[in-house]
Amino acid sequence: MQENNASRRELFSAIVPCKDEEDVLFSFLKEFKESVDKIPNIEWEIIFVEDGSKDATLDKIKEMNREDGRIRYISFSRNFGKEAAMLAGLTEARGNYIAIMDADLQDPPELLPEMFKAIREDGYECAATRRSTRDGEPPLRTFGAKCFYKTLNAVSRIKFTEGARDFRLITRRVRDAILELPEYNRFLKGVYEYVGFKTKWFEFENRERIAGKTKWSTWGLILYSFEAITSFSTVPLALVALGGVLLSVVSVLAIVFLSIRQLIYHNSAFGWTSMICVILLIGGLQLFSLGAIGYYTAKIYLESKRRPHYVIQEKSSE
Ligand code: UDP
Ligand code: MG
Repeated sequence: MQENNASRRELFSAIVPCKDEEDVLFSFLKEFKESVDKIPNIEWEIIFVEDGSKDATLDKIKEMNREDGRIRYISFSRNFGKEAAMLAGLTEARGNYIAIMDADLQDPPELLPEMFKAIREDGYECAATRRSTRDGEPPLRTFGAKCFYKTLNAVSRIKFTEGARDFRLITRRVRDAILELPEYNRFLKGVYEYVGFKTKWFEFENRERIAGKTKWSTWGLILYSFEAITSFSTVPLALVALGGVLLSVVSVLAIVFLSIRQLIYHNSAFGWTSMICVILLIGGLQLFSLGAIGYYTAKIYLESKRRPHYVIQEKSSE
C-alpha cells in the first residue's frame, strides 16, 4: 500500500534565490514545510541558489543540507543577480512542478496548496501570484511602480499584470519552454507572459520581509525597468523615429513661414530666446534618441558575447 502511494507521488522543486539571507533561512524552511505538508502525494526538494552572499548564508544552507538531503544548493562565484539565480534554479530543478520563492517569506508558502489544486485539478499549467496591496512600501516607490506598469503595457504587445511576483508554480512543460529562450538579457516576469500557457492568478496582501533588508536600491529599480521595457518592446525606437519625423515637419513649416516673413518685412534679427530654446530642445531630443538607440545596441553587444549567465562555485552533492 505504502509502495503504491509512493509511486504516485510527484516531485515539487522550490527554487529560492538567496543573497545575504542568513536571518530568514530557518523561518523560511519551517513555514515552507508546514505548507507543503498539506499538499497530498508530493515529495519536495528545495534548491537554494546562493548568489554571492557576504554573510553566513552559505554555511547555514550547508548545515540544512547535511540535516536533510532534500535541501540542495548551488553557490555562485560572485553576485550575479536574482534573474541569474532563478535561471540556475530552473536549470537544476528535477521536479514535475516548480516554483520560485523569495527567501524572506514575502511570497507566502501558505498559498501553495491552493496553487497546486489549480494545476492538478483545474487544468492550469501555471499558478501566478500578485500583490493586491503595497502596504509598507515607500509611497514614491509605489507611484514609480504604477508608472512603470502603465508605460510597459502601453509600449509592449505582451500584457503585464501590475504587482505580479516572480513567485509562480509552473509545470515542467512551462519550465522547459522558459529554458528554450536563449537570450542573455533576461526578465523572467516577461518571459512567463511570453511563453503563455493557461494561468490562474492568486492575490495576496503585501507582507513585509521578516528580517534583513531589500536588495533593491532606487537606482537598481530604474535600471530594472529599462531592462524590462527594452526586453519586450522596440516601441522606444519607433518613438524616436516618430519624434524625428515630427521635428522635420515642424522645421519645414518654420522655414517656409520665416522665409516668407523675411521677404516681406526684412527684419529677422529678433528672437534670440526662442532660438536658444529650440536649440536646447532639439539637442535634448537628439541625445535622448542616441541614448535609446545606444541602449538597444548595447544589448546586441552583450548578447553577441555569449557569456554564461552565472558561474557556479560549488553545488550540493547528489
Ligand atoms: N536576491 C538574489 N540576488 C540578488 C538580489 C536578491 O538572489 O542580487 C534574492 C533575495 O535574497 C530574495 C529575493 O531575491 O530572496 C528577492 O529580493 P528582495 O527581497 O531584496 O526583493 P524585494 O522583495 O524587496 O523586491
Ligand atoms: Mg523581498
